[in-house]
Amino acid sequence: MKCTKCGKVVKKEDKFCSNCGITLITVKKSPATTAILNFFIWGLGYLYIGKYVGWGILLIIISILAGLGGSIYSGLGDQLLYYGLLLPIDIAFAWHGYKITQEINQG
Ligand SMILES: [Zn+2]
Repeated sequence: MKCTKCGKVVKKEDKFCSNCGITLITVKKSPATTAILNFFIWGLGYLYIGKYVGWGILLIIISILAGLGGSIYSGLGDQLLYYGLLLPIDIAFAWHGYKITQEINQG
């Protein structure tokens, strides 16, 4: 592999470039952060890791609309039921975001 700054060939296990001294360790994204972002706003975690960006933006719009959807119910019980039904989707996106981030970190 090559140093991203000066282009000198460096070893994969090197932590710093021997020529220009920049750090060669790529910053890893946190799977937990992706999961939390995706849990509260579907798709936001995908933007955080820079994957499925197009889907991420679409999901954010859907997520906001779904979030606003609960306001059509006046009763607290109905609202809780509405958001309760959305919970499995929240969890699914959180789980998927977590897994994908782990895969990216493993390279
Ligand atoms: Zn360098």
